[in-house]
Amino acid sequence: MPKVKRSSKRAPDGFDEISDKLTEFERKMRDAESAGHEGKRKAESVWPIFRIHHQRSRYIYDLYYKDEIITRELYDYLIEEGYADGGLISKWKKQGFENLCCVKCIATKEHTHGTTCICRVPRNDLDPGKVVECVQCGCRGCSSGDGKPNKDKEEQPPQRSSSSLGPPPALDPAILMMMVESMKKASEHTASK
Ligand SMILES: [Zn+2]
Ligand SMILES: [Zn+2]
Repeated sequence: MPKVKRSSKRAPDGFDEISDKLTEFERKMRDAESAGHEGKRKAESVWPIFRIHHQRSRYIYDLYYKDEIITRELYDYLIEEGYADGGLISKWKKQGFENLCCVKCIATKEHTHGTTCICRVPRNDLDPGKVVECVQCGCRGCSSGDGKPNKDKEEQPPQRSSSSLGPPPALDPAILMMMVESMKKASEHTASK
C-alpha cells in the first residue's frame, strides 16, 4: 500500500480546498494502523486500512472524473504523492471493475484457486443468502452487477415468473351481469324441466 509521501514539491492550486478532507483521511488511516489486533483474525485487522485507502482514492477519483472540480495537474500530484492509488483508479475505468475494492482481489497469484476473489463474483451467480467477505480486504462484493445498475449496459426488463403475476384482473361489472343472467337462465331452464 503506497504511503503518502509529503514531498517538498509545492501543491498545485486547489489543494487547499481539499486538504481538510485529506487530513481527515490521514487521521483515520493513522487510527486504523495503530488499532489493536485483539479479538480479530490477522487478516481482519488490515481491512480498515484497505477501506480507508479505497475511500480516499474514490474521493479523489470522483473529484476529477465525476465532479470535475480539480485540475489534471492536481489529480496527478495526488497520485504521485500517494493520496490516491493510481493502479486502483486505472482499474475503475474499465468496464466491470467500476467498484473494485482493491487490486489484490484481481491478482490471481493472491488466490489459492488461481481465480479472482469471491468478492468479484456477481451476486446473481452466488447461492442466495451466502455471506461474501473476502480475506484480502473484507470486501463484501464489488462486482459491477451488484447494487446500482451499470449505466453503460442496456437495462434488462425484469423477468416475470408465473408466481409474480398477482391476482387476476377484476371483472368488468357489465360482463359480470351477463354471466349472472346466463346462469339464471340456465337454472330456470333446468327448473322448468
Ligand atoms: Zn472486492
Ligand atoms: Zn476480495
